[in-house]
Amino acid sequence: MTLGILGGGQLGRMLGFAALRMGLDVRFLVNEPSDSVACFADVTVADWNDPDVLRAFADGCDAVTVESEWAPADRLAEAAPGVAVWPSPETLHLVQNKGRQREAFAHLPQPEYVWARTYDEAEAALETLGLPLVAKRLEGSYDGYGNATVREADALRAAWDALATDDGLLLEAFVPFEAEAAVIVCRGDGDGVVYPMLFTEQRDHRCHAVAVPSGFSASVEQKAREVAMACATALGVRGLLAVELFVTSDGEVLVNEVAPRPHNSGHLTIEACVTSQFENHARAVLGLPLGASDLRVPAAAMVNVFGHTDGPIRLDSLPSALEPLGPTIHLYGKRTSRPRRKLGHVTATAAAAAEAYATASEAAARLRL
Ligand code: ADP
Repeated sequence: MTLGILGGGQLGRMLGFAALRMGLDVRFLVNEPSDSVACFADVTVADWNDPDVLRAFADGCDAVTVESEWAPADRLAEAAPGVAVWPSPETLHLVQNKGRQREAFAHLPQPEYVWARTYDEAEAALETLGLPLVAKRLEGSYDGYGNATVREADALRAAWDALATDDGLLLEAFVPFEAEAAVIVCRGDGDGVVYPMLFTEQRDHRCHAVAVPSGFSASVEQKAREVAMACATALGVRGLLAVELFVTSDGEVLVNEVAPRPHNSGHLTIEACVTSQFENHARAVLGLPLGASDLRVPAAAMVNVFGHTDGPIRLDSLPSALEPLGPTIHLYGKRTSRPRRKLGHVTATAAAAAEAYATASEAAARLRL
């Protein structure tokens, strides 16, 4: 059984590892050479927009999936119509644009928003949404690049000029949330599974750490799980959907954004859950039975490892990071570092989330890459 993966970053790498462990064959198509998947035997480096390349890649795959919502799944489906592609191009089309995401979740709790097609519409939204508001580029944003918080009416013009595209700009009411969280669901042939709610800590608009149990009340967790599954249903997802959430002080759970693929918040499922997000994604897209998503430890935490300096990576600090017993170190095989580049993560399990967090943080801090 062969799983094709479009993309060759750390998500593809960890998905590939999970598939290999089950005895599956794994095949990658990448647009440019990628260190993270250089360890796999079957990697094609070629123009992944070329129909001939896509057809040859898909030939012999039982299913093809993507590690990024920007991979050309639609072109592959066109070039090789007989091959299963999950997430489907329809799901990806909805997710790629933050305005379309909001429209797809109109029946679900989410921040108030206006999809402004013109600057006049954006100005009018100041009335409906009030200040502050968050302006978001519709497509292609990540780690907060593509967002601006507008605190005064005067600042709207600059946000529009910087972020609006031909389709306009998404404007959202600023949510004074208490915390951010995520719930990952996976849908296959049957009902699907929901992973435990994750507490996510953002620093500088990007994921720094994740902990489970989330620490929210049972009723908040129940709400979050239902909302996440409803998002997956609304998008017709097969495979994973990671749903990023805001939790307010009065226990409301609002959808921020979603990603139909393995997600940074779910890396701790490798050590913490019966079946990891990666394994379940591989199973789901291939039509195999899903595994349980329950915790198999009382608590776990994951801390990301970012680059500190520019240049080739040397693992001089690895022995020190490996010294404490317990934490599991995942490095993604990248050969070069630069400040803030995501190079790996550390997961620890423990009796309580705070303890796991402290252990994982300490090991991550010892890695100077
Ligand atoms: P990206 O797609 O770049 O990851 P997000 O839309 O997830 O960007 O936003 C990044 C961060 O900005 C969020 O994690 C959250 O901290 C903050 N944010 C986004 N939308 C809102 C909002 N409506 N109200 C308050 N904060 C927000």
